[in-house]
Amino acid sequence: MNETPPKTPRPTRVVVIGSVNMDLIVRTNNLPEAGETVIGTDLITVPGGKGANQAVAAARLGARVDMVGRVGNDVFGRTLLDQLRDAGVHTEHVARTADCPSGLAVISVDAQGENAITVVSGANARLSPDDVEDVEPLIERADVVLMQLEVPLPSLCVAAELARKHKVMSVLDPAPAPARGCGLPTPLRQVDVICPNRGEAELLTGERVRDAQEAKLVATELIRQGARFAVVKLGAHGAVAVCADGTVLHEPGFRVSVEDTTAAGDAFAAALAIGRAEGQPWAKAVRLGCAAGALATTKLGAQVAMPTRDEVMQLARRA
Ligand code: ADP
Repeated sequence: MNETPPKTPRPTRVVVIGSVNMDLIVRTNNLPEAGETVIGTDLITVPGGKGANQAVAAARLGARVDMVGRVGNDVFGRTLLDQLRDAGVHTEHVARTADCPSGLAVISVDAQGENAITVVSGANARLSPDDVEDVEPLIERADVVLMQLEVPLPSLCVAAELARKHKVMSVLDPAPAPARGCGLPTPLRQVDVICPNRGEAELLTGERVRDAQEAKLVATELIRQGARFAVVKLGAHGAVAVCADGTVLHEPGFRVSVEDTTAAGDAFAAALAIGRAEGQPWAKAVRLGCAAGALATTKLGAQVAMPTRDEVMQLARRA
């Protein structure tokens, strides 16, 4: 991400292949036990889904963003499309799916901040390999293809293969990670950039990640598995990355006043990808990712908490 406008007049083109969800957040004093009914004190309806979060994050950072996904032919689907458009995301390739609910997460939060989450994939599970084949011209024109794991793996494999075919940078945020021992299919292991958090890195490699040194080892393992650049996000401790040539980068992260860490990783992925696509060295791209992630933690919520390009540049300049 350049501080001055890029020499090319056009914005960076990002295609996000991923999930679009409605999050229903219910507050209660206590989470219900099996068979119990509790009274909720509040209900908040907010747009979510890792795909949509990253699309909004990228748009906030000044990119031209096309979302590829599916919503249901229900009232949530209409609202989700409107919200994406309001955030500046192009939605021509988000299909309305008949006879299928929109993706939904019901999040109960108790008085201690403990939560219980039920996710219904709904239309997200219907994003097919053919849907992705259909957007090959879009991928061909893109600078970055950004993916997460909330839509079917075969469709993501097609996206990764098309990105490779057209020499477009592929970025995978492997969340939610596959169960331990399952691993990723080959095209998703061979992406240009993989950016797991600590827990996801552990599931993908079977190794513990307790500190920066262990993060370096698992990032090296992810390079061995096929990625060209692997960065492990370490929450308040920033991120550790390994390049294909073995170079190790450690960005210690930014001290900020934390309100809510939801979607920090989504902001990170978008800023890292755009920074790199705009020609920044890896170290600067990781720093931009960390700045965006840190800023996302300073506000409550997911999409509404995504920082602007100016905010990220300003924090990244801080010593
Ligand atoms: P995820 O949201 O995917 O679980 P992390 O929690 O590691 O990933 O957050 C992503 C990035 O956001 C981190 O690498 C870091 O740069 C930034 N970040 C997250 N939490 C904090 C925090 N408490 N303070 C400062 N930066 C944070």
